[in-house]
Amino acid sequence: MADLPSRATELAEWGAPAVSTEVRNYVSGRWRNASGEEALTVTNPASGEPLGRLMLSTRDDVHAAVLAAREAYPMWRATPAPERARVLFRLRQLVAEHKEELARQLTSEHGKVIAETRGEVQRGIENIEHACGIPTLMMGDTVEDIAPGIDSATWRQPLGVFGIITPYNFPVMIPLWFWPYAVATGNTVVLKPSEQDPLTHQRIVELAEEAGLPPGVLNVVHGAQECVEAICDHPDVVGVSFVGSSRVAEIVYRRATASGKRVQALGGAKNYMIVLPDADMDLALDACSGSIFGSTGQRCLAGSVIVGVGDAHPQIRDRMLDSAASIRLGDGLDEKTDMGPVISAAHRDRVNSYIDQGEADGAKLSLDGRGAVVPGLEGGFWVGPTVFEDVAPDLSIGTEEIFGPVAGINKARDLDEAVAMMHASRYGNACSIFTTSGRAAREFRYRAGISMIGVNIGVAAPMAFFPFGGSKASFYGDLKAQGKDAVSFFTDQRVVISRW
Ligand code: NAD
Repeated sequence: MADLPSRATELAEWGAPAVSTEVRNYVSGRWRNASGEEALTVTNPASGEPLGRLMLSTRDDVHAAVLAAREAYPMWRATPAPERARVLFRLRQLVAEHKEELARQLTSEHGKVIAETRGEVQRGIENIEHACGIPTLMMGDTVEDIAPGIDSATWRQPLGVFGIITPYNFPVMIPLWFWPYAVATGNTVVLKPSEQDPLTHQRIVELAEEAGLPPGVLNVVHGAQECVEAICDHPDVVGVSFVGSSRVAEIVYRRATASGKRVQALGGAKNYMIVLPDADMDLALDACSGSIFGSTGQRCLAGSVIVGVGDAHPQIRDRMLDSAASIRLGDGLDEKTDMGPVISAAHRDRVNSYIDQGEADGAKLSLDGRGAVVPGLEGGFWVGPTVFEDVAPDLSIGTEEIFGPVAGINKARDLDEAVAMMHASRYGNACSIFTTSGRAAREFRYRAGISMIGVNIGVAAPMAFFPFGGSKASFYGDLKAQGKDAVSFFTDQRVVISRW
């Protein structure tokens, strides 16, 4: 089948862990070098040590991957839905068996702590599990006698080749929000993972090969802007799923829809957490702290601004400051570590520049994470927990996504004022309320206008069988990731009206 050895074979021969190898494209079931000349180093962000090397792919590499996917499409579309599902059942089993290995590799290349990477792999598994139900999920509707002797039925059919472009912060889970559904419904895929941490998903592609996914059904190109633009422009790509910053989500949405593709583009966030005076303060503190500092703030669902209403403000403020100051930084593979590094030196500098700006703009900096150092890991990309108070909504730290361990704590007179602060944000990914009042929670849900809402929950992360995606500048498109929306996005409903 393959004239180049698979990476799995190479790794076995070298006896080397996957993290010390070159990252290569996967096209038509073969591992190929990218044709670009620019190289990137994949780095362990806790130590700054290199883990692997990636050559950036070109437009030609994307073209080759799209042709492979186009060629595989008729065979895969004609493969019965239960057989397609069976490949995913096997993949689910393999990923579950390799869960610990994957989680450890993911901590090494991303930096988040091992409990979080175990959780991420689990969330990925749940999406594969959900996609295994495709024979039922793809069912259409029928109505007999829509007119005398005439019946009508819908058939959900795949569309062809989909492009999937993903960010660095959940490099295992986010590709699995999409490609298992795309292939389960009978499409073929070109995946462009984040160039910053591509190694662990590469391992999942090896497991997909082992599970029996035929050549050409899933193709992977590694690269950056040139690859993304080539996917958006390619005439043989019928649709694009994108997750990343709002700036790039908007670019991808405009560019890919301009060439007639269906697009779902999930963007950035600035998530508000409102604490009412009747809240269970222990629960609110745990949830807010976990949401803001979990994954070192690099989650699209991370809380960013806490608004304490009335008497709740001094309570949550004091508790947050104590709790944030006690967070232990370190290597995520150490089970005692609370918070790992950020992804890169460039991202550390970006987060630090937001803190500089917040201070220069006059916000009260109550805990400063700049210059954090972890003994023995001086080469890592560290930012310690940081807390600002009284963040005016027009400051950059109050409006822009920082994507680091930086909290704002504000006060509001009442729920109305807190909701007004939240509504001033251009983002609409997630929000949370902490209260023991069902009436206040209902009012919040009714008026939030934000897609993912937590009630006494700090990270409003829906399970695989619910849709995932934001509103306002956090989302471009209509059908979201996961759940029934995923099946709708990757299929078209064909309506047949018959008279015999
Ligand atoms: P990013 O936008 O920099 O990159 C995302 C993808 O786009 C990557 O594959 C990258 O190679 C590509 N890309 C980057 N710049 C590009 C350009 N100019 N033109 C074309 N393609 C380009 O995002 P990131 O830093 O990898 O991830 C963090 C962002 O993702 C945050 O904003 C976060 O909120 C967002 N995110 C959103 C969700 C969600 O569900 N809404 C989930 C996870 C992450």
